[in-house]
Formats: sequence, structure tokens, C-alpha cells
Amino acid sequence: AKEEGRDNYKFFTMDMNKSISRKMALENGLRKALKNNEFVLNYQPQVSLQTGEIVGVEALLRWNTMEAGMVSPNQFIPVAEESGLIIPIGEWVLKSACMQGKAWHDNGQSALKIAVNLSPVQFLHENLVEMVIKALKTSGFNPNYLELEITEGVAFTDAEAAIKKMQTLRDLGVRISIDDFGTGYSSLMYLKRFPINTLKIPKPFIQDIMGGQKDKALVETIIYIGHSLGLSVIAEGIESNDQLLFLREHHCDVVQGDLYSKPLTVMQVSALIENKTPA
Ligand code: C2E
Ligand code: CA
Ligand code: CA
Repeated sequence: AKEEGRDNYKFFTMDMNKSISRKMALENGLRKALKNNEFVLNYQPQVSLQTGEIVGVEALLRWNTMEAGMVSPNQFIPVAEESGLIIPIGEWVLKSACMQGKAWHDNGQSALKIAVNLSPVQFLHENLVEMVIKALKTSGFNPNYLELEITEGVAFTDAEAAIKKMQTLRDLGVRISIDDFGTGYSSLMYLKRFPINTLKIPKPFIQDIMGGQKDKALVETIIYIGHSLGLSVIAEGIESNDQLLFLREHHCDVVQGDLYSKPLTVMQVSALIENKTPA
């Protein structure tokens, strides 16, 4: 069985150009990864522009393969979604993030929010609410500090159903943010009715703001819309001081990006929030 696993890894790390066999190998790899605990979560700090403090972290999934090292979610999430494996993987992510959140809270960081990405496939799954309840119960994590990130696309296909599901989640006490706001087919009409807490400005918008007047206007407008609706606004992918100055000037609430910190391991985050230097 061990030999078989090894061959599999070699197989999908080869450059096989989107072939069906590559996808099947990836899918097999993901199945084994779940069984063998090869997934880990990294956490990227989210910093308040008002206080300069870390107010939250976004959980970002990493696949630590024996032979290829860390594999980026952009490579395996689509395959996980197509195969349905995103459901058990997503359950693992939710549970692990809530357990880690609980550990940080117990350690004195009781105001730290944990953001968890929900794939559209997960959001639409009939057992999503049960899965969230289970993760909260198992971990004992305070629901008010769990923020679920969903993408616009999902929400807008069947807006009425999405609103209902979001409300059920909000009734549990969890927060909801719209990830990559403005990249889907946004309808401001529905946005007004979504029971959400946060808008996230997508990375490409932020990376373009120093490029021109139009891009600046776009980011300003998103911040303005968010605030008009009483929402908190997070900008992601901040890499430069110029971007930071612009966002501060326009009263963006929270920033996340390499300028402050790349996604970190649990140990690194713990060291950072406890204000100690990493060992
Ligand atoms: P996302 O949710 O938009 O996450 C932000 C991505 O931008 C992360 O990539 C993060 O590492 C990266 N990033 C943050 N700041 C910067 C920056 O300053 N510069 C640059 N160049 N990049 C920055 P990552 O970790 O590779 O994740 C990619 C995508 O995979 C995520 O995009 C999300 O859609 C998906 N993903 C990650 N973890 C999960 C998960 O647990 N579940 C699901 N369903 N999707 C996940
Ligand atoms: Ca996200
Ligand atoms: Ca995003």
C-alpha cells in the first residue's frame, strides 16, 4: 500500500497537462490525504487599520504531500469540488479551524476571529448547517468569532435560497463575509438583503489601485457601499505602503496581505499574537 501511494504522488506531480489521468491521480491523492492527515491549515493575520492590532486570521488550506511538498489550494480545490471530496475536506477545515480558534481563545486571545473559506459546493450542500453546528459543538468555539467566507456567485444563483441559508447560519451566531466582492454577478438589490457582516475587496483590485484613477474609484466605491450597508470592509492582498495609505485614507476597516504577513503556521501565529519572537 505504501508503494502504491508513492507511485501516485510521482504520477500527479509529473507535468501531464490537465489530462484525465492526472485528475484521477489527484483525486486519489486527495482521498489518501484525508485518511493520512496530510492537510494543514495556515493562518493569515487580518489587521485593524484603526488599532493596528490583529483582529482575525483567515484559515488557508495546505496539502503537505510527501513528495511534492506543499501543494497550493488553487491546484487541488477545483478537483476536490468536482469529485465531491470538498465536503469531507471542508468538514475537516471547519473543525480544525474551530478547534484552533478555541485554543487561541483559551490562551487569552478571546477577541480573535477565525475566517474559514466555504466552497460554493459546500455552501449549497444540504447538510452545511449541520456541519457548522457539529464543528462548533466539537470544538466549543464561540460562534460569534467564526466568520464564513462565501463567494458572490453562489449567493446570486438562487438568491432567495441563499438568503435563507445565510440567515440560518447567522442565527447560530456565526458571521458571514462575501469574498472577492465585485468579481461575480453582483446585484446591489440583493446585497442589501444579505444578512452578512463583511465585504472583502479582491486582491486584483487592490493590486491595481496604484495603477490609475478608475481602479482607485472602484476600491473607494466598494468601501463606500460596504459602510453604507453597515458592513465591515476587509482589503486582501496588500503588498505596498502606497496601497496601505490609500486604504487608510478611505477608511477601510481591516487589511490582510503580505505587507503585514504571509499565511503562517499555528506556531508562528501564536508567537505573533502573544507578542513573542518565534523560537
Ligand atoms: P482566497 O480566499 O481569496 O485567499 C486569499 C489568497 O491570497 C491566499 O492564497 C493567500 O495566501 C493569498 N494572499 C494573501 N495576501 C497576499 C498578498 O499580499 N499577495 C499575494 N500575491 N497573495 C496573497 P492561497 O492560500 O493560495 O489560497 C488560494 C485560494 O484557495 C483561496 O483564495 C481560496 O479561494 C481557496 N482556499 C484556500 N483554503 C481553502 C479552504 O480551506 N477551503 C476552500 N473551499 N477554499 C480554500
Ligand atoms: Ca478567502
Ligand atoms: Ca479572496
